Amino acid sequence: FMIRVGVNGYGTIGKRVADAVEAQPDMELIGVAKTQPNFEAHTAVERGYPMYAAIPERSPLFAEAGIDIAGEVDELVAEADVIVDCTPSGIGAQNRELYETHHTPAIFQGGEDSDVADVSFNARSNFDAARDADYVRVVSCNTTGLSRIIAPLEEEYGVDKVRATLVRRGGDPGQNSRGPINDILPNPIKVPSHHGPDVKTIFPDLEIDTLGLKVPATLMHVHALNVTLEDDVTGAHVRQLLEGEDRVYVIPEGLGIDGAGKLKDFALDAGRPRGDMWENCVWGESIGVNGRDLYLFQAIHQESDVIPENIDAIRAMFDTEDKRDSMELTDRTLGVGI
Ligand code: NAD
Repeated sequence: FMIRVGVNGYGTIGKRVADAVEAQPDMELIGVAKTQPNFEAHTAVERGYPMYAAIPERSPLFAEAGIDIAGEVDELVAEADVIVDCTPSGIGAQNRELYETHHTPAIFQGGEDSDVADVSFNARSNFDAARDADYVRVVSCNTTGLSRIIAPLEEEYGVDKVRATLVRRGGDPGQNSRGPINDILPNPIKVPSHHGPDVKTIFPDLEIDTLGLKVPATLMHVHALNVTLEDDVTGAHVRQLLEGEDRVYVIPEGLGIDGAGKLKDFALDAGRPRGDMWENCVWGESIGVNGRDLYLFQAIHQESDVIPENIDAIRAMFDTEDKRDSMELTDRTLGVGI
């Protein structure tokens, strides 16, 4: 049984999800829907992805640009077993009606409010919650990054309280209208930030407070984390625990990786597609413990950490693999894990 997947919205997240689906032995990418025939549309055609017009009135633009379209988005939705909606925040919620009309299950992204779907999803933390669900939301890049750390800590030690400061990139590399260009913004200025409640869509009983800032960078987010555990721990034990997590990369001392820039270079040098870093990158040296208080720094590649999660969400919805097998298959086919 091949799961027939359509991707609606082909930007930063959508193009990565499409490539990831294409790499799966149990999935078939049946098409991608785009609003305009820009450079990404041309690359999609070169990759052999059937192209659908996301906005019917704009279909003639594709022909003018020399792109043959396979149809309009509603045809893609009708044909797909599942749609991965990767449209900008807020558009996904508007699209839900289209998916419902065609009885096509859908996955939404973290820019949508949690009520867009029945379940908010992070593979490591709550894979089984998405079993047989028709509408699932893969949580945001930051929530994914926090969840991947909280899940093993919660299982191993129990977590009393999480406090996290999120130093957020101003925009993705192509988003030239975003900023700040030269400033340091408390953002959102309201404390605690909305990120904590978002993490609680995955861990309802967790105590968590988050603060956000925005800085002039496009590479990655960096989190400063303080987790109060239920028992005294040692740094070495926590490190061993995190090293055992496939989607967490504990950066060893001695590599000279002292920031997000070198992490991205590392990924590019390794020949990873688009320089993607699907794993949380925790600086090993930063893992510090004071009694029950754990501290660490981690970098999160906002453009790619949610990609393996989307693939696992598809398998959970169709109940074709259990959590471990799905995550292993995803990681092996994409090359996740250092
Ligand atoms: P993006 O702007 O890069 O891509 C969105 C794409 O959807 C664009 O190509 C746009 O033209 C297209 N689009 C717009 N309206 C559409 C419509 N009606 N139908 C079909 N396509 C339409 O955005 P993105 O960064 O890929 O974000 C997509 C979602 O993923 C958002 O919910 C966002 O919050 C979430 N997300 C983004 C990041 C990130 O850092 N980029 C990380 C995690 C989650």
